[in-house]
Amino acid sequence: MLVTLDNVISCVSGYDPDSLRVDDGKKIISTFSKIIAKNLAVEKVQIRESLGRVLAEDVISPIDVPSHNNAAMDGYAFNGKILTSSAKKTIELNILGKVFAGDVKSMVLINDSCYQIMTGAIMPTGCDTVIPQEFVEASSKKVKFSRNAIKPFDNRRLKGEDLTYGKPALKVGKMLKPSDLGLLASLGIPEVKVFRKIRVSFFSTGDELRSLGQLLPEGCVYDSNRYTIFGMLKRLGVEVIDLGVVPDDLVSLENTFRKAAKSSDAIITSGGVSVGQADHTKDIMKKLGDVSFWKVAMRPGRPMVFGKIWSEKNDTNETFSLLFGLPGNPVAVMVTFYVFVREALLQMMGTTEFKSQLIYVESAEDFKKKPGRTEYRRGKIIQRSRSTPCVRLIGAQGSGILRSMSEADCLVVLDHDTVHIKSGDLVPVLVFDGLI
Ligand code: AMP
Ligand code: MG
Repeated sequence: MLVTLDNVISCVSGYDPDSLRVDDGKKIISTFSKIIAKNLAVEKVQIRESLGRVLAEDVISPIDVPSHNNAAMDGYAFNGKILTSSAKKTIELNILGKVFAGDVKSMVLINDSCYQIMTGAIMPTGCDTVIPQEFVEASSKKVKFSRNAIKPFDNRRLKGEDLTYGKPALKVGKMLKPSDLGLLASLGIPEVKVFRKIRVSFFSTGDELRSLGQLLPEGCVYDSNRYTIFGMLKRLGVEVIDLGVVPDDLVSLENTFRKAAKSSDAIITSGGVSVGQADHTKDIMKKLGDVSFWKVAMRPGRPMVFGKIWSEKNDTNETFSLLFGLPGNPVAVMVTFYVFVREALLQMMGTTEFKSQLIYVESAEDFKKKPGRTEYRRGKIIQRSRSTPCVRLIGAQGSGILRSMSEADCLVVLDHDTVHIKSGDLVPVLVFDGLI
């Protein structure tokens, strides 16, 4: 069934496009991100190419890891029963032989004896405990150690304790990390099925914008948004398509939107969405798709457009790109990206792990704000020695001031209904570092 913005919006109670709650905006966007995720093609890649990609199917373990019970330490393997059955304080065992990692000879334990064993070597039959070599006194034939130095089953790794044959080792929707590449390799799996990368086009609008390398006439500014957007997209590992600066004229805008919608899953624009603009971005967006114009109850970043842009003229198949029309101010662009776009793109990529990176830390200052909007203030987390980290504000907070964004390492999130935070209270912060 065709999912229209009107359908989705009608399910959001208290929907008000002139003061949209951040959470409601996220809900609406998420419905459409899921549609894109559902239709993503799948490709097979070598595991080195799979870093940061999203698994398209469960990986079932084809073997047990480890494949045998084995030693976790260099030492002496024996049967741990002796630790509970013997009344003696010192245990003395005969050494029957040596076992190295990779040895496959079958070795069987005889009473009151042990095998010298190396880390990773298969435990001889009858052995279930390893005493590390630093706890023993050993001659070439015998080994002695205190009974209290160890408990039965210590320092033994069980067959299949890491990954079990026939069970899912990694689940569909997982975004693969370095540890996952190692895990796949430990299973002997050289390639995996992942979702194709999503493609994201972006461009800036505004007659006052100049690209790098151009002269800067009076009244003009260099286009910085395309660079922050590029950086944030690169971190997510999507394919980026930079469509440059588009002047505020109908024909150029229409052509660029059409080109973007044909070649990408999402389109991000910046500028031209505020009230009373002399630009035409909004008219074109309306003409080319199904879009909503929002004034989000947030600061910075109030005006925003979200919707679908048809991939073809008069599209009857309902193929579309998701449109995120972000405000032009350099900080508002970043904040709206982190709050709405990042999560949406992760969801479009097929991952189920799109955590918001919100953590709670102590506030180093008092905050006052009006209720009825979510505010994002630039902050820096301070790690005081041996105490909980706290956050303080950093730099000027104007929505055009990129410098404080550069100095900040997080956004302090003051929730919709919050009016007052006292110094020492816990506040949620959205950390920049390690954002994916
Ligand atoms: P707008 O949303 O188009 O009204 O733009 C709001 C403010 O952001 C204006 O001061 C613009 O000059 C500025 N701005 C818009 N786009 C960009 C951009 N790509 N890079 C830097 N500043 C921008
Ligand atoms: Mg503009």
